[in-house]
Amino acid sequence: MKRKLPTKYIVVTGGVLSGLGKGIAVASIGNLLSDKLKLIAVKCDGYLNTDPGTMNPIEHGEVFVLNDGGEVDMDFGHYERFMGIEAKFNWNITMGKVFKNILEKERRGDYLGKTVQFIPHVTQVIKDSFLELAKTEKPDIMFIEVGGTVGDLENQFFLEALRQFKRDVGEENIVNIHLTYIPIPSGVMEQKSKPTQMSVRLLNEKGIEPDIIIGRSREFLTDAIKAKIASYCNILPEAVISGVDVDCVYEIPLIYEKEGLTELLNTKLNIYAPPNLRSWNQWVDTLKSNRISPKRKVIIAICGKYTALEDSYASIVEALVHCEAHLDVKVEIKWIETSYLEDNVDYVEQALENVQGVIVPGGFGHRGTEGKIRIIQYAREKNIPYLGICLGMQLAVVEYARNKCSITGAHSSEVEDSGVSVEHPVITILENQAGVKDKGGTMRLGGHDVEIKKDTRAFKIYGNKKSIRERFRHRYEVNPDYVGKLEEEGMVFSGKAPEENIMQLIELPDHIFFFGCQFHPELKSNLRKPAPLFYELINSAMQLIKE
Ligand code: GLN
Repeated sequence: MKRKLPTKYIVVTGGVLSGLGKGIAVASIGNLLSDKLKLIAVKCDGYLNTDPGTMNPIEHGEVFVLNDGGEVDMDFGHYERFMGIEAKFNWNITMGKVFKNILEKERRGDYLGKTVQFIPHVTQVIKDSFLELAKTEKPDIMFIEVGGTVGDLENQFFLEALRQFKRDVGEENIVNIHLTYIPIPSGVMEQKSKPTQMSVRLLNEKGIEPDIIIGRSREFLTDAIKAKIASYCNILPEAVISGVDVDCVYEIPLIYEKEGLTELLNTKLNIYAPPNLRSWNQWVDTLKSNRISPKRKVIIAICGKYTALEDSYASIVEALVHCEAHLDVKVEIKWIETSYLEDNVDYVEQALENVQGVIVPGGFGHRGTEGKIRIIQYAREKNIPYLGICLGMQLAVVEYARNKCSITGAHSSEVEDSGVSVEHPVITILENQAGVKDKGGTMRLGGHDVEIKKDTRAFKIYGNKKSIRERFRHRYEVNPDYVGKLEEEGMVFSGKAPEENIMQLIELPDHIFFFGCQFHPELKSNLRKPAPLFYELINSAMQLIKE
């Protein structure tokens, strides 16, 4: 029997600037190795929240939800989409989790007689988390991404732990990759290496020497700059990789491959994993040619209240890109800020002019809901393809109840928290959520089965499957007391939770495409297989431009 090699570690740090796309870099490297090897991706975050579930998306970007119910950073979305893996909550190591663990240990008496210190105790807890994952998951490769940049105070214990870790696991089993920025200042028109030199020096001070440097830049790195970085940073010129800016992030694995990154990793870690990039290449070609000269174009409105930061809806944007690649169509997004619509009712018609599809994404609270309801009414009445996700489904039910079933005063009881009184709570709190006080990690979260009703459009869209699994993040649901009335007026509840009366999918059969889902289909979409509901939304939108 072939002996399984020990887990190898690929550590990725960032320097110079935040926001260089470390998560995408990790995901892209993983993509290149994913054909042949078992991968897991760990993300270290310096903040003191246990997880990002309680953060405002405007501040931190989208909260990504895992199958096991973990609420994590949006980088996990990139990992899953590019590597084809299903990540787990304990792959996200936040300082919040580390400190919680240490304080519990201290109270339990695990450190009895000792002074509990940052070093060695905090670093030990971090290293133990890596080793524990290696033991339980048995991956060929474990990626470890350190959030932020090397200079950030809050990440120092992760870096110190990783410095020690190299000795613990043996240097033949670990590779350090540093992602930096190579500016081309206007006027100088030359790639500059100084910020990279400074950043690597900072990393060296922490006792970490990079084996590979990826330089983000507007253009491919020249041989001259590679040689300069190599000499100042003590690596080979071949180990300096261009991370050139691209319009389409799915092109990055292809660029890394051309730059020789897979080969470098193969030699350094003694792994053999040449990637098969045939289909990936084709999709990227379609996406690229669509951006330059699209054969056809649809405009999709995303109507939410976190539109100030597009990262709040990162997975939705990606799901649309996946459809572009498979349907050979350019999807242009029109962002509509729904809080603005509340005082500007007439704007709805203007906002949705020339739009072939509407998405109302997930959201919380009262602000923006009336604007969204008006948008939904317009899409329903004008036969514009509509996909309501989570809150977008709940408000579609509210709209239908008010305007089709004549239930004036219909709303979601969620808005009562803002002092609005609700006469007909067509959306109500989930039974087991009523007494929940704590906010962190307490929603109905993660993967749940959805039973699909036969002879519905959903059944067809999901390839005649009786049961599917999708990911959820909510506290409210369609009030079962109103389902009969809504059905009488033509709403079809085509998906529900097995053995529970939770409505999970709605549709209107007489509409070109009108769907609401209590789950988040965008979280499972990827370039290999776009989420079926998104695919059908775009397919229907394309019918409008054919007419
Ligand atoms: N606020 C709604 C709920 O809690 C919807 C949540 C969401 O859109 N993710 O049920």
